[in-house]
Amino acid sequence: MDQNQLNDYIPIVGLSVVHDLQVIAEKLNGKTIINVNSTAVGGGVAEILTRMIPLLNQLGVNAKWDVIKGNERFFNITKNFHNALHGVKVDFSQDDFDFFVHVNRENMKIMNFDADIFLIHDPQPVVLIEMKKVLGKHWAWRCHIDFTNPQMDLMEFLNQFIEQYEYAVFSAPAFSRKLSIPQALIAPSIDPFSDKNKELPKEQINSIVEGYGIDLSRPIVTQISRFDYLKDPVGVVKVYKLVKPYIDCQLVLAGGGATDDPEGMKVLEDVREAAGNDPDIHILFLPPSSDVEINALQRASTVILQKSLKEGFGLTVAEALWKEKPVIAGAVGGIPLQIKHQYSGILSYSIEGTAYYLKQLLHEPEYSRELGINGKQHIKENFLITRHIRDYMLLFLSLMNKEDIIYL
Ligand code: UDP
Repeated sequence: MDQNQLNDYIPIVGLSVVHDLQVIAEKLNGKTIINVNSTAVGGGVAEILTRMIPLLNQLGVNAKWDVIKGNERFFNITKNFHNALHGVKVDFSQDDFDFFVHVNRENMKIMNFDADIFLIHDPQPVVLIEMKKVLGKHWAWRCHIDFTNPQMDLMEFLNQFIEQYEYAVFSAPAFSRKLSIPQALIAPSIDPFSDKNKELPKEQINSIVEGYGIDLSRPIVTQISRFDYLKDPVGVVKVYKLVKPYIDCQLVLAGGGATDDPEGMKVLEDVREAAGNDPDIHILFLPPSSDVEINALQRASTVILQKSLKEGFGLTVAEALWKEKPVIAGAVGGIPLQIKHQYSGILSYSIEGTAYYLKQLLHEPEYSRELGINGKQHIKENFLITRHIRDYMLLFLSLMNKEDIIYL
């Protein structure tokens, strides 16, 4: 994947935004920042880091990315953590907690900790904070999860680690918790030049989409997501079935797995069962590095759904809005940051509600277009990678210079 030069962003975000980045980056010159998460591919965190690290490097900030290792048992436990932090009831044993800590400590033995600042993403590697006692340096915990209703016994277990960090960073105000450490709000972002979001020629879009057996002459309704219960893909099939008798549309459910998400195959089976043998439902299990394919599917779609039941942010919403698509999405987690109801998209609360709005958007292309145009503007102003990098660099500076006020 080609990496864009910083100057390429000027026509989109303006000269002053890029200039500010250079000024802030100078203050971080010579500093090393290590990001740690639990998967190199799949899901929003990997998506963001893939684009952000090279840009930070271009700015002269020595940013790196490391991934913790774990076996099947570890990722089953952390997927259960993920579900429980999203409010699903899960029972954990002391053994689960001990094993989780043990795998983190095994990683500590083999990881390279040569850095000034550590940005640790999500709960999977949270125990790495134990290295602070050995190394000192600066540590922030970056949480991408929808934390509106976490399971409390798990939260108490994790808090003993989280509260050793200097900062906890959340994606949306609603996720902020009562913690003894300062909290920062940094929303995620998309990169307009990534393969996932760059402009594509019409012929390329059409040939990719037709290659999946999708008919370009009829409306296409799409949800792109890992196959995860919290993305409610079965709910999406139900929505489609409510709309199909009225409008001859097609449904595309496209997604892959993530190496730290062992539940995907089971969810995929459930979706296939719910879909039955309707030839107008296209369930696409995509390999990693399907960025151009996802881009084409989003661009060819008439309406994009993101019917999540919980959502840290929902990069797929930003990706669709950037492409001026009308989006109907669950009013959960970080999604309302991106969609102002009936202005830059539609927020929905149920299968029936989603079906109602889907019928409306399919019937009213002008209204749909307006939502898409407003949506793109909103993403441009708030959720592009340049804003995200700026926020992170300011966080790094405030970690290093806690007493100093930072002037730009
Ligand atoms: N994605 C992908 N392949 C897939 C499914 C999703 O590349 O098969 C991408 C999607 O386009 C988005 C990210 O993975 O960029 C998912 O981020 P999001 O915040 O929507 O959800 P998460 O998976 O992190 O819960």
